[in-house]
Amino acid sequence: MSHTFSPRLIILGAPGAGKGTQAELISKDKKIPHISTGEMMRGAVAASTDLGAKVKSYLDAGKLVPDELVIDLIKDRLSQPDCTNGFLLDGFPRTVAQAEALDILLNGMNKPLTHIIELEVPDEVLIDRLLDRGKSSGRTDDTREVIEERLKIYYHQTAPVSNYYSKSNRLIELRGTKVVSAIFADISNLLSS
Ligand code: AMP
Repeated sequence: MSHTFSPRLIILGAPGAGKGTQAELISKDKKIPHISTGEMMRGAVAASTDLGAKVKSYLDAGKLVPDELVIDLIKDRLSQPDCTNGFLLDGFPRTVAQAEALDILLNGMNKPLTHIIELEVPDEVLIDRLLDRGKSSGRTDDTREVIEERLKIYYHQTAPVSNYYSKSNRLIELRGTKVVSAIFADISNLLSS
């Protein structure tokens, strides 16, 4: 049964919570695309596309890109054939408006989300992890100043997304301070139950 199941899941959590790391492991294990809006936009900036030009200043400042741009990007991506048998969203939705747009889109396709997982990690740990990542990631937004801005934005604009899902009893919270393999085991259990 589990091998035919196609999860359509999102991983929520603050910057540095470990979304990207877990998303990569799950996407390989379940053979579903790992869709990271942050990666897509960094790619657009690197390739100097029209989208890249529009979003660069937001990324550099650690601010959220306007909803319309990200929602269009996701609509386009989810309509591609590799998403037919499930997908994993990492870094989207980041506002309640994005979460609502996603529900409408997926309900219209008769493919609602199957799992909404949040990784919980305290602030001190997040800042340490992000500063550490900044040493090797080459990401222009992993500096202390931009990290603090991203956390502030997370609490103001993105934390309400968790409420949006918990109000409809869809949110699954996991402790994100465990070692990578233990969190992966927790998520795998959820996906196979
Ligand atoms: P991430 O790689 O998920 O940490 O995203 C890096 C940056 O991309 C964020 O700080 C935002 O500037 C932008 N970004 C990524 N996903 C979104 C989203 N869903 N909504 C708005 N901006 C986003």
